[in-house]
Amino acid sequence: MNMEFVRKLAIPMEVKEMYPLTGAMAAVIEQRQAEINAIFAGKSEKFALIIGPCSADNEESVIDYISRLARVQAQVADKICIIPRIYTNKPRTTGDGYKGLLHQPDPSNKPDLFKGIIATRKLHMRAIQETGLSCADEMLYAQNHKYLDDLLAYVAVGARSVEDQEHRLTASGIEVPVGMKNPTGGDLTIMMNAITAAQHRHTFIYRGWEAHSMGNPYAHAILRGYVDKFGKSHPNYHYEDLIALAGLYAESGLQHPACIVDTNHANSGKDPFAQPRIAEEVLHNRRLNPEIRTLVKGLMIESYIEDGAQKIGEGCYGKSITDPCLGWEKSERLILDIADAL
Ligand code: PEP
Ligand code: MN
Repeated sequence: MNMEFVRKLAIPMEVKEMYPLTGAMAAVIEQRQAEINAIFAGKSEKFALIIGPCSADNEESVIDYISRLARVQAQVADKICIIPRIYTNKPRTTGDGYKGLLHQPDPSNKPDLFKGIIATRKLHMRAIQETGLSCADEMLYAQNHKYLDDLLAYVAVGARSVEDQEHRLTASGIEVPVGMKNPTGGDLTIMMNAITAAQHRHTFIYRGWEAHSMGNPYAHAILRGYVDKFGKSHPNYHYEDLIALAGLYAESGLQHPACIVDTNHANSGKDPFAQPRIAEEVLHNRRLNPEIRTLVKGLMIESYIEDGAQKIGEGCYGKSITDPCLGWEKSERLILDIADAL
């Protein structure tokens, strides 16, 4: 192979021994998971908000941001369950650019995967310890899931990974809800097939083992909009889209039909300031149609401390270095407005 094998990295078991889950953290996770699973099982009326920066690029500003979320969570606890996004690895459209905390624990330094594995686990642990919120991450590398499997409250499979066999089979062995995004081209059958694969049991090779997965009854859909053959963004969160998805679920025989609407990415055309309008429309349609109300369990929102995005090295605290986000004040307003509109 034309690559240099730099060093053998610590396996998940070793990293977990170095940074173990405490009893107090396990109690928080267990209580939160019961609440989150109940939403996806249709046993709870609470609305899920998977909200946070596009990428978790800096430990201090991410913890600061999630602490703010935790304060709002206390205000809206009767209606909303906040699941912060701590996205530690980023898929890139061309493969180039910042690949997340896992690769570059310091975005302006060169990649250090050992430090990245540690930084990723520490950040998820700090969030639980300091804010009482267990969080979401994207499973970009299926083999890496075990570094975090005891910490995560929610897992997303991204638009560029959702057709991949390894992601689908790994998702079938995950215990928490896994959101399958529609692919960038928008084909909903690819997403539905991914959900089917994830809900079923499989035998496959995982981290050098012959492994048997139990199937994940909480695998579900995330609508993130799509891009056509001319590179133009199109939304897929409107009334007709949600009814169409309900129809696909009805034909599928899948367990626990559920959908999260991603208010950014191709749904907003990456205009983060469109997110409140999109959220409002989805909530309106939930109120109009009971089928949509049952189907749409929550939203995914890209939000951080500062509005917009910056280039790496500009050094603005709490401003995204990947997709542009909605800043804190607008985000707080949005969460409170969502609670009122539910
Ligand atoms: C994201 O959630 O930041 C992301 C990369 O999403 P998608 O896979 O939909 O592009
Ligand atoms: Mn993003």
